[in-house]
Amino acid sequence: MIGGGQLARMAHEAGIPLGVRFRLLADTPQDSAAQVVSDTVLGDYRDLDTLRRFAAGCDVITFDHEHVPTEHLRALQAEGIAVRPGPDALVNAQDKGVMRAKLDSIGAPCPRHRLVADPADVTAFANEGDGGGYPVVLKTVRGGYDGKGVWVVDNEQEAAAPFLAGVPVLAEEKVDFLRELAANVVRSPSGQAVAYPVVESLQENGVCAEVTAPAPGLDPELAAEAQALALRIAGELDITGHLAVELFQTRDGRILVNELAMRPHNSGHWSMDGAVTSQFENHLRAVLDLPLGDPRPRAKWTVMVNVLGGDYPDMYHAFLHCMARDPGLRIHMYGKDVKPGRKVGHVNVFGDDLDDVRERARHAAAYLRGTITE
Ligand code: ADP
Repeated sequence: MIGGGQLARMAHEAGIPLGVRFRLLADTPQDSAAQVVSDTVLGDYRDLDTLRRFAAGCDVITFDHEHVPTEHLRALQAEGIAVRPGPDALVNAQDKGVMRAKLDSIGAPCPRHRLVADPADVTAFANEGDGGGYPVVLKTVRGGYDGKGVWVVDNEQEAAAPFLAGVPVLAEEKVDFLRELAANVVRSPSGQAVAYPVVESLQENGVCAEVTAPAPGLDPELAAEAQALALRIAGELDITGHLAVELFQTRDGRILVNELAMRPHNSGHWSMDGAVTSQFENHLRAVLDLPLGDPRPRAKWTVMVNVLGGDYPDMYHAFLHCMARDPGLRIHMYGKDVKPGRKVGHVNVFGDDLDDVRERARHAAAYLRGTITE
């Protein structure tokens, strides 16, 4: 797996019972996954020779992030290395302009959008819509994550900032959404696919804060539509592995695709404890072209809350309280240094009573972070 973040760490963890021999390409020995994977190669994923050296002896390579240059992946594939998902699929998760064009071509519902050339063009885009005028959402097509690279702008002056990076800019209507959902599916090269229940995801400051599985109160028909859409995207784009389709549920009962991630995803962390087979295990099974595991939930509700870095550098002092208060709590820490706002872990709680499950998960995450002390 290329990339030493927490997704690789948890994928490695999922591979242990299967006896998967896991090699990692990481930046530094301190990376979340590099701390636990014995076969770690250190190097720069932007360097083709490093990628070649890393891939030698691997049956298949896959990713914990989407930043490996597409042309390098094409080169590796041409040399006979199994790259999963492949570059032609992955480019849709790397470049939001390519993704929108592809989704349009298969008729997947998206917010109104187009590439824009300069601030004046943003104003023209704003006025093309039914609502007419600002606000408009602007996104650099490459390099964004966790809300970085996304601007909500109210006028032409504000629209100048995204162009400074020198990367193409995509304009989108600002969707008046009821909530954000994610439809997560896994597909293998043989064409087998499974769909997890559609989840609700709550974002704070552009960062995923909380996920509830399944999405409470979601009309079963809309849920089935979202799952079918995600499966169709996985098939049409020939994706191998885990695909997260981030969705907006609009107030008038439609779903629109926000973006795609072709790797295990924060919206699937609940599955580590809440599903028969976790997203990490199913991602590994898929890239190894093994039969996929059951994606069904093990409990009526599972709530995942991210633990963000707070003011306390050491979170382990909080374990005593959290574990004593709630023996059903599942804690997943990533071994990362605590920095304010950084994702350093998550907790999962599952059970029959949604309010209870949510309260326990929120309490534990807040306590671990240090925002509450009792
Ligand atoms: P990232 O690459 O950082 O994950 P996203 O495209 O997912 O960026 O955008 C981050 C957040 O910004 C979304 O989760 C959503 O809350 C908000 N957002 C993005 N696009 C739109 C849109 N067209 N309308 C309204 N809100 C949006």
